[in-house]
This record gives sequence, structure tokens and C-alpha cells, in this order.
Amino acid sequence: MGGIPVEKALSALGNVLSGLKNKIPFLKNGNDDEATIIDGKKIAADIRLEIKAEVDKLKTKYGGKVPGLAVVIVGERKDSQTYVRMKRKACDEVGIHSFHSELPETISEEELIDVVKKYNENPDCHGILVQLPLPKHIDEEKVLGVISLEKDVDGFHPLNIGMLAMKGHEPLFMPCTPKGSIVLLERSGVELKGKNAVVVGRSNIVGMPASMMLNKKDCTVTVVHSRTKNPKEICRQADILIAAAGSAKMIKGDWIKKGAAVIDVGTNSVEDKSKKSGYALVGDVDFDEAKKRASFITPVPGGVGPMTIAMLLQNCLDGGKRAIEGTK
Ligand code: NAP
Repeated sequence: MGGIPVEKALSALGNVLSGLKNKIPFLKNGNDDEATIIDGKKIAADIRLEIKAEVDKLKTKYGGKVPGLAVVIVGERKDSQTYVRMKRKACDEVGIHSFHSELPETISEEELIDVVKKYNENPDCHGILVQLPLPKHIDEEKVLGVISLEKDVDGFHPLNIGMLAMKGHEPLFMPCTPKGSIVLLERSGVELKGKNAVVVGRSNIVGMPASMMLNKKDCTVTVVHSRTKNPKEICRQADILIAAAGSAKMIKGDWIKKGAAVIDVGTNSVEDKSKKSGYALVGDVDFDEAKKRASFITPVPGGVGPMTIAMLLQNCLDGGKRAIEGTK
């Protein structure tokens, strides 16, 4: 018999209750006028535990088989190396096997494509992640286009994006950051159906897929971009606001409809002399102003950020399951 694992049910209940605090007066505590802060760190940690339990189940049922992720990195960019290290560590923690290819900056496009093709053919590898950006002499789209559809755990393959856009189709994978944003809303108990959603930003990796995901969830979606004439007026109509512009604190309190749910994807580094490092990370939303108008809001850091890796693990698990259970 199937059924929801106890820890998953308890965690979902906890998240929904924390959302309800805002709506049911006797459950509220602290400042009644302020939004419920969506704790991305906690939700991501819950999801990682659920993934670990699923990986353990697969391992037991299929003679030790586990999902496998190949991480390919080219060159020695410090930030890329840090991201890759974090992704491999996250895989280890949930029992996903990780393959690693660390390639020199001078590698040719053809050689890199050969590496990707080898992982396409490796039956123990169920997901391939090529860390971006790639060196200038390599055509990123060409390399990403070689990743087999069934292993496209970043969800960037044009066919996966196309299926996300089309009615009656579902992609095999969805891009991790926008998917994480939607999961944060759902796990907080925010109703999406029929709501006005505004997405600020239309990039291939965040804004555009986020708008398509909200459309699939039956929201009425408007996209704001750098040429939009009246962004403030449009944002003020949003029951659901996803900010992914990469512009520090551009969305002020008076851009927010009272009671809106606000997901801030923006991660902007700004000078902050009070910090040892000399800088601080802030979102695209002016958090202190917005929390006085929103019903739910994500902080930066600690909101969407932790969800991106959790969704990558989820995609690896989904790909691994399809292959190991023979359901692809
Ligand atoms: P991007 O490729 O630079 O795209 C930014 C988008 O925002 C573009 O569509 C741009 O419009 C629009 N835009 C820029 N300034 C605007 C303005 N003033 N008003 C309205 N629209 C504006 O950025 P991205 O990769 O999507 O990332 C967006 C933000 O999310 C960044 O801060 C990034 O660091 C962050 N991020 C966070 C995570 C995470 O895991 N937390 C993951 C990915 C990205 P045009 O199309 O007209 O140029």
C-alpha cells in the first residue's frame, strides 16, 4: 500500500499551519500586520529528507541501484567550483551517486560534447549537469542541446521547455529555480488557481519558465520586463508576485497588493560596511517595506536559494526512478 510518509505529512501540515497563522486570527503571533516569512531553508531541508527516503527505498528494492548525476565543469572559476561542490555534497547527503568531470579551460567544443555524449550512454547516470557559464569559445546552447532529454535535470532542453509551454504535455524536467519558487508557494498553502500572477523577468532560466509554470497552475499571468512601461501598476495587481530581475530592492512596498504572496528570486550583492565581507545579499524586493503589505514573503538569503539545489536533487531522483523502474 502506498500512502504519504509520516514525516512528509507532518512537514506539509507544519508548513500549511504556518501559512494559516496569517489567515486565522487566534493562530497569529507577533506583529499581525506583517507577512508570514516563507522559510526556504526549512522547506528545502524537509524535501531533502523526503528524497533521501525515496533513494533508500529504490536502493533496497533494486539491488543497490541509486540515481546518478554527472556534474561537468570547465575551467577554474571559483564561483562555479563552489556551486559544483555544493551540488555534489547535496547528492552525497541523500545517497545520489555523483560522477565528476573537471575539464581544462582550453578544452574544445567537440571534446566537451564527447564527454556529454559518454554520460548520455552511461546507464548508471540519470542526470547531466553542465555548469555554466562555459568559456567564450564554446557554444553553450550547442552543448546543452546534446544532453539527452531523459537526463536534462536542469530542464533547459528546448524540448522540455516546449512541453512546459504546451497544453496537454508535461516536461520530463522543469528548471530548478522557478520550480522551487512554485513549490514554496504550494507548501505554504498558497492557492494558485485563478489568481493574478505577475513575474518580473523573462530569462530562459527563471522568469520565462516561472510564467509558464504559473500558467499551467491556472494563474492569469503577466510578465514584466525591462521595456515594460508601467511595472509598478502591473505588480500592484498581483496576488502572486515572482521577482526575478536581478535589480536590488527595485520592488517597493507600494508595488505590492495588500495580501499578496511574494517570492523573491533576486540575489544581488550590495556594499554593506557593517558586514565583515563588506557586502550583503539582497533581493529584488525591498523586504522591510514589502513584508508590511504581503501575506507571505521569502527572505534573501534563505528563501528561494536553498530550493534550487533541492529541486535539482528532486529532478535527479525523478530521472533515476524512471530509468531504474523502467518507466521512461
Ligand atoms: P537575467 O538573465 O539577467 O534576466 C533578468 C530579467 O529581468 C530580464 O528578462 C530583464 O528584462 C528583466 N529586468 C531586468 N531589469 C529589470 C527592471 N528594472 N524592470 C523589469 N524587468 C527587468 O537574470 P536571471 O538569470 O533570470 O536572474 C534573475 C535574478 O535571480 C538574479 O538576481 C539572479 O542572481 C537570481 N537567481 C537566483 C537563483 C537562486 O537560486 N536563488 C537562481 C537563478 C537566478 P529583459 O528581458 O527585457 O532584458
